[in-house]
Amino acid sequence: MKITDFKLYRDKCFINGQWINADSSEIISVNNPATLEEIGTVPKCGKNETKLAIEAANKSWPEWRAKSAKDRSVILKKWYELIIDNKEELAQMMTLEQGKPINESRGEIVYGASFIEWFAEEAKRIYGDTIPDPLTDRRILVIKQPVGVVASITPWNFPNAMITRKCAPALAVGCPVVIKPASQTPYSALALAALAEEAGFPKGTLNVITGKASEIGDELASNSLVRKLSFTGSTEIGKILLQKCAGTVKKVSMELGGHAPFIVFDDANIDDAVIGAIQSKFRNTGQTCVCANRIYAQDGIYDEFCQKFVQATSELKVGDGLNEETTSGPMIDEYSLEKVEEHVQDAIQLGAKIAIGGSKHSLGMNFYQPTILTDVTPEAKITSEETFGPVAPVYRFKDENEVISLANNSPFGLASYFYSRDIGRIWRVSEALEYGMVGVNTGLTSKAEAPFGGIKESGLGREGSKYGVDDFLEVKYVNMCGLDK
Ligand code: ADP
Repeated sequence: MKITDFKLYRDKCFINGQWINADSSEIISVNNPATLEEIGTVPKCGKNETKLAIEAANKSWPEWRAKSAKDRSVILKKWYELIIDNKEELAQMMTLEQGKPINESRGEIVYGASFIEWFAEEAKRIYGDTIPDPLTDRRILVIKQPVGVVASITPWNFPNAMITRKCAPALAVGCPVVIKPASQTPYSALALAALAEEAGFPKGTLNVITGKASEIGDELASNSLVRKLSFTGSTEIGKILLQKCAGTVKKVSMELGGHAPFIVFDDANIDDAVIGAIQSKFRNTGQTCVCANRIYAQDGIYDEFCQKFVQATSELKVGDGLNEETTSGPMIDEYSLEKVEEHVQDAIQLGAKIAIGGSKHSLGMNFYQPTILTDVTPEAKITSEETFGPVAPVYRFKDENEVISLANNSPFGLASYFYSRDIGRIWRVSEALEYGMVGVNTGLTSKAEAPFGGIKESGLGREGSKYGVDDFLEVKYVNMCGLDK
């Protein structure tokens, strides 16, 4: 199956309701990470086209914000339905450009669409306040209004859902958007734009621009018409964008790196913990910011947990994501693979043992074996850096206080997980973990109804849930005076 055969395949940018090439006619090539073959090209746009997209978005803003929440909701719901109707095609396109197993792609399409459905409803509930004024002839009124043009820069690991999670709340409350998808996975973004066009968004309300990340990113971060930048990606790039946004004092949301601890206490249900560890560690071949990066197993269950975890890992099927049997696809590119190799070699040199895996997969190219390392030392890079690959380091710990301090010893604070059946411990540990999200007896926590986000260097802001609209709204205070006349 060629991606060019799909009816939602678009190889142009979507700006101001038109499908356009780069001014320079330059292109970037997009590859299938499972075969390394070129599957197509997209325009290599830069500063000028980005300005055009921002100006188009700004021009569309008065019309879009003037619609009632219900009218915007109707268009969003239409978009949602079109995505669900085209789920299979969108999933296949995603696997071709991203590599993830087709079943995970199907899951992501439904998960991604759920944000549109959620925010289509939520936008009708943007409530304000009335506050008693200290003077009797006055009233204080608080209303919430859309911030304006929203720029959204998204990564390749969730090519669909990271876009919908940002754009659905923005659009729902009345903000137009300019989307810059990752260069590895532009087709999922362009297919979403094609469906948005069909759903009936006014022209300029939703724009997708592909091309040189730094040039497009610079313009999005420095252009004063952009009032909010929402970024998901590495902490390194997030910090650069934060600095650039300071120039025009934009609102920002940052979903950055993580280094999730995954703790299994002696009183846990071990079989459940193994299922959770597999889901949390190996989903998307370990390439999610909420992946378990450090697995802490308590003394009493350490051996049993490791043995069962290794057994479950040995059952994973590595291969091309288009194969229905595959549970672990390729890594996105050779650089990601190199980082995984570096982390594994470094850990081994410092004393870690390979319980399973430990090297490239015999399929070659970007495939790496699902790997478990035991006896990993605190000095190993993998103990403090995000691996973003299919490697699970397991550490032994003695008691609750020790593991909480180990878990919190990180500049990151995105997701964390632990397994326990003790209600007192569940409260204590949930409150003690310095993370934006805590999964208790689960390895998967993301859903449209819940606030996704991190603390410390993992980011700013929350996506999803009733809190997910806040970042796209300004609070305006109106003081009504002279009411006694
Ligand atoms: P990763 O590729 O590890 O997910 P990145 O932070 O490199 O993380 O990329 C996330 C998104 O940020 C992608 O869309 C990428 O194109 C974009 N990006 C990369 N470098 C820059 C930059 N200098 N300015 C703006 N965006 C960037």
